Amino acid sequence: MSTPWSALAAESLADPRSMISRDAARSVLHAPADELLALLDAAFTVRRAHWGRRVSLHVLDNAKVGACPEDCGFCSQSSKYASPSGEAPMKSVDDLVEGARRAHAARAKRYCMVTATRGPSQRDLDTICAAAERIKSELDIELCASLGLLTAAKAQRLAASGVDRFNHNLETSERHYAQIVSTHTWADRVETVKHAKDAGMDTCCGGIVGLGESEEDLLDLAFALRALDVDSVPVNFLDARPGTPLAGYPLVEPGYALRALCMFRFVHPRTDLRVAGGREITLRALQSFALYPANSIFTQGYLTTGGATPSADHQMIKDAGFELELASGESIPADPEAVAHLAGPTRRPSLPLARS
Ligand code: SF4
Repeated sequence: MSTPWSALAAESLADPRSMISRDAARSVLHAPADELLALLDAAFTVRRAHWGRRVSLHVLDNAKVGACPEDCGFCSQSSKYASPSGEAPMKSVDDLVEGARRAHAARAKRYCMVTATRGPSQRDLDTICAAAERIKSELDIELCASLGLLTAAKAQRLAASGVDRFNHNLETSERHYAQIVSTHTWADRVETVKHAKDAGMDTCCGGIVGLGESEEDLLDLAFALRALDVDSVPVNFLDARPGTPLAGYPLVEPGYALRALCMFRFVHPRTDLRVAGGREITLRALQSFALYPANSIFTQGYLTTGGATPSADHQMIKDAGFELELASGESIPADPEAVAHLAGPTRRPSLPLARS
């Protein structure tokens, strides 16, 4: 049966380079509850055309924790807030290589090294690049780094060391950004994404739903990311941290979270779309529905919050009839028993807090 949502999918598939209109994107956010399954089915039609039934697992490693001089209002790692995120210095190259081995054992396609900084110091960059060179020589896994603001030279250094992709989220609309962060601008973030792209790395750039943004802000974010032509869009859902300015902000309603993912899929039909931080606590029993618009997830938890174990994520993917995509491009069945020995996130110190 044809619905407005299947018509939207047909429009997207007819010309994957074209973009749905802003009005159509807005209508997705307003889909009635009775039409949610039809909307997910339409988003899946687009996802399946470009990504099949494949799901890629990504693993985050919080390589340097806390004491960040920036003041991002959602982040427990900022030194400006009295949130108990703790601090830990930069991991060693050996520890980062070991983290990549654990990610590979979990059948992850990509391992992402993250530091809580305004931008990488020369020393931190040396460590990340040395780890990248060793990991790429040892493992078939894609590498991502998320190190804050980059110069063109630092972006080139990362790319030369084997880092495939750089993450730097826009977080929200340009208009709303100044309500959330004062120590750098949205334009600074765009510039870093461009440096990463110019250096030849893939760009991973998304945002957070639930920062008190308006619907227009969320649409602005989705279309700004499309204009930047990023390769990967992680969509996080705020899990408000105590001690931060956003403490007490409510969780996003799960039906709205799914509509937002569908909207991002229609605006970014071919993009690697990830349901990211806040997945478990926001979607709860509806988590597997997110696999219909999104084609990737994080496993082993997030930077400062726990999450599902690899075994639980493999089970969800298997139960929903999806399969895993590896860095080699090969697709394999999810296998919860094979990864049952792998625990959730390994974190120093043990942190109850969230960002991705
Ligand atoms: S989001 Fe990143 S830059 Fe902002 S305070 Fe947290 S660690 Fe620092």
